[in-house]
Amino acid sequence: MNKRIVESYKKKLETEEGYLVKCGASLRIALCYPNTHGIGMANLGLHTMYELFNKIPEVSCERVFLPDDFEMREYENQRTPLLSLETQTPVKDFDVVAFSISFETDYLNMARMLQLSQIPVWSKDRNHFHPLVVMGGAASFLNPEPIADFTDVIAVGEGEILAFQLVDAIVENETKDEILLSLARIGRGFYVPSLYDVIYNADGTVFDYVPKEAGVPKRVGRAVASANPKEGTLRRAIKRKETEVVEFLMNQDVFAPSTAVWSPKAEMGDRLLIEISRGCSQGCRFCWAGYNYYPPRVVPARDILAKASQWRGKTNKIGLVSTAVCDHPEISTILSELRRMEYRISVSSLRLDQISEELLDALVESKDQQIAVAPETGSDRLRRVINKNLTNDEIVDICGAVFDRGMLTVKLYLMVGLPTETYEDLEEMIVLVERIKDRMLEAGKRFGRAGKIIPSLNGLVPKPNTPFQWDAVCDEKELKNRLKWVSKNLSKIPNVEVRAMSARIAHEQALFSSGDRTVAKVIEAAARLRGNLNEALRETGIDAAFHTSRNRSYEEFLPWSIVDSGLSFEFLKTEHEKSQEALSSKPCPAVEKCTTCGVCPTTWLADAPVGLVQLQSLRTPHGLTVGV
Ligand code: SF4
Repeated sequence: MNKRIVESYKKKLETEEGYLVKCGASLRIALCYPNTHGIGMANLGLHTMYELFNKIPEVSCERVFLPDDFEMREYENQRTPLLSLETQTPVKDFDVVAFSISFETDYLNMARMLQLSQIPVWSKDRNHFHPLVVMGGAASFLNPEPIADFTDVIAVGEGEILAFQLVDAIVENETKDEILLSLARIGRGFYVPSLYDVIYNADGTVFDYVPKEAGVPKRVGRAVASANPKEGTLRRAIKRKETEVVEFLMNQDVFAPSTAVWSPKAEMGDRLLIEISRGCSQGCRFCWAGYNYYPPRVVPARDILAKASQWRGKTNKIGLVSTAVCDHPEISTILSELRRMEYRISVSSLRLDQISEELLDALVESKDQQIAVAPETGSDRLRRVINKNLTNDEIVDICGAVFDRGMLTVKLYLMVGLPTETYEDLEEMIVLVERIKDRMLEAGKRFGRAGKIIPSLNGLVPKPNTPFQWDAVCDEKELKNRLKWVSKNLSKIPNVEVRAMSARIAHEQALFSSGDRTVAKVIEAAARLRGNLNEALRETGIDAAFHTSRNRSYEEFLPWSIVDSGLSFEFLKTEHEKSQEALSSKPCPAVEKCTTCGVCPTTWLADAPVGLVQLQSLRTPHGLTVGV
């Protein structure tokens, strides 16, 4: 055992509260986050899975992180196998190694952590003495194929329901093969890559996935946590003053994901993080999170405020995690109660069209957050292409409302390389930033100071399960030129500080998000070669452009189709066609009886409690039936 690593881990534990060491549990799970402790502890998904696994009596769950620089040197120099944080047990001695992966860029770190653990990276090289390797997290239902060959089982969907099903299957079956087959046969929620043959066409595209065993589904359905009220249903019930319905929806026993381990030295570690809603109704066509968490659901204010009250003795900072904070039907109650408790409030993201006066007031009062807003582009036409239904005039007005409160610095998220983008569109981006800067200076006169506009430029990476899934990423040289042109012109504007992503990073992301199973070879090699992707591509002979720079036809079998997200082909195709004509679409209403995108009518939501996410009219325990 390497003493210096153990000391480093113990020092980290000394700064934390709330972690668990369960003795005598029959099933030991190493919950791995493929990044360092400081970053991982800011991830609510990790906290959630840690809490859920440890709630199960048979399970003891410990955390494992990518070592920081000092620890990595120690691991490599001493050839110490990777250890868990809580008890410094070798990861290879656990029964289950479960990765929680939110970003495909962390795939390299996943492979690196298996290598450090001295566990064979390829699932075919492992036997029944090795731990079961599981992958979960948002990346798992976007496109798990690039790491399918590393993984025994992939949890496709939301952890609140899958954690328990996984443990049941492990406890109730004898051998690894039996566990995998029983999980695969559930039909949704668990994808076992080794139980499928992938058939390729002569041109290298995927022809089909063929299950090897009876009862294994052709496609694996996404599992959706269905105990939370649908956002639109709750909003309408409140608006119509349907008291009984509102009470029924708000009094369900829902799980409110929140900080499980207090870790003040980590990023965002000095605040209570709590998820207030999941999914976004707007349907921005580039946004994988929006589509992959359909339908939007909420945690009732009651549960959020109860947790906030419990934690107030420990911290006066709270981070509300949501893709659309102001869409929460009870946001006024949540904000006013949190302010009454004297919390300093921050939010994970702000949607421009729904920033309310009271949220802005709360953010200004807390002085805890730089406001970041996302116009995405400077062209009203391009904003219709991506289905972000805001105009430049509205964006300037919203930024003005921020400046008028004395917050004179804003960060602007902007994208380059959007479908149908021209240099005229990019010129409009410069004009928009200039207008926002002028509005900031105008407000600044009243406060006797000037602020800063910080445009953050990213290249668009078309994501699976979005309407842009058929599109190539903008050519690397062209993307580089466009990013350079925009950066150069924005830099000329006073009080503007540009930050730009490299075109290379966009292409790396595209490879990991849109690749098929063959891309695993690149990931394994790059992890071995300390992240050198170019060398890994040379060694493996994989052509990255085949995966990233090719417009796919509607007829092509997409590698990520093995996961059935619930979004219908027709819906995504129509959205894609509308984008080419700059036509916008209505948001997801998140109410009963909607069948627009295909998610709600699909079978896995039919198991949900009545009135929460089902399509039937709403029936409360009191027998009241309400069509919504
Ligand atoms: S079916 Fe309708 S309510 Fe359900 S997620 Fe799709 S658009 Fe939203």
